[in-house]
Amino acid sequence: MIPILRTVADLRAIVRGWKAQGQTVGVVPTMGALHDGHLSLVQAAKAGCDRVIVTIFVNPKQFNNPSDLAKYPRTEEADAALLAPLQVDTVFSPNPDEVYPKGFATTVSVAGVAAPLEGSLRQGHFDGVATVVTKLFGMTRADRAYFGQKDWQQLQVVRRMVADLNLPVEIIGCETFRETDGLAMSSRNVRLTASARQIAPALHAGMRAASAALRAGAPQEVALTQAEATIRAAGFEDVEYLTFRDADTLDTSTDLSRPLRLLAAAWIGGVRLIDNIAV
Ligand code: AMP
Repeated sequence: MIPILRTVADLRAIVRGWKAQGQTVGVVPTMGALHDGHLSLVQAAKAGCDRVIVTIFVNPKQFNNPSDLAKYPRTEEADAALLAPLQVDTVFSPNPDEVYPKGFATTVSVAGVAAPLEGSLRQGHFDGVATVVTKLFGMTRADRAYFGQKDWQQLQVVRRMVADLNLPVEIIGCETFRETDGLAMSSRNVRLTASARQIAPALHAGMRAASAALRAGAPQEVALTQAEATIRAAGFEDVEYLTFRDADTLDTSTDLSRPLRLLAAAWIGGVRLIDNIAV
């Protein structure tokens, strides 16, 4: 079995040994409830680094909604079983007190790219992400860190933070892993009822249609309004946002001469799903 470390001291000791031998260290930060999307990041890390650490930490600071935090799936034993065949070197799964001991008083806050979309809808979310990711980089001393494009805005926030703070870690963004029907894999998908699960792929399908319409020359209002109507007609209760953005800055844009991204958040059966695609 893979060793599961609980303390920063134990993690530091093992990393010190690797570094002394000149080995490169990769980290895959997760909140557990692992699925094939997470495992694809682990595989990328295995291919790119001598040693791989998977962190499992349901970070209370990035949840703006206490019931979402309480309901977040926690499946550590199953997670360890999924990681075993991939020959991960260690799993770091600390308790909240280990990460945020008494007196903890520092917040890493990224402006600009963290402000719109998830940043405005989930107050404090990206402060929580930036703070914990900075801490995980300090704890693991990773040379490379692997993040999913599934959380596109998060990936841009982490890239901005690493550049701004001169953190000595290379950020690798990995493709979104999807179910065969197009639904982006997510730990929250287990909360979908059978009927909501059937409806859920309509989000990705609607997004692809909007992207194709824009590329075909439709005005963005038309492309977005039609897609939103299809997504709602399929059974989604709400579409929080469906928006074309510059892929790097996340400013509103329909400039097809630059990398463009379509990002969405929508509710189905009481579960909030997010997704994004290249346009
Ligand atoms: P989470 O456990 O949801 O915080 O996700 C941990 C990491 O896995 C993040 O970098 C996510 O972007 C990434 N991830 C989550 N779902 C997917 C997916 N379907 N495909 C690729 N990466 C993913």
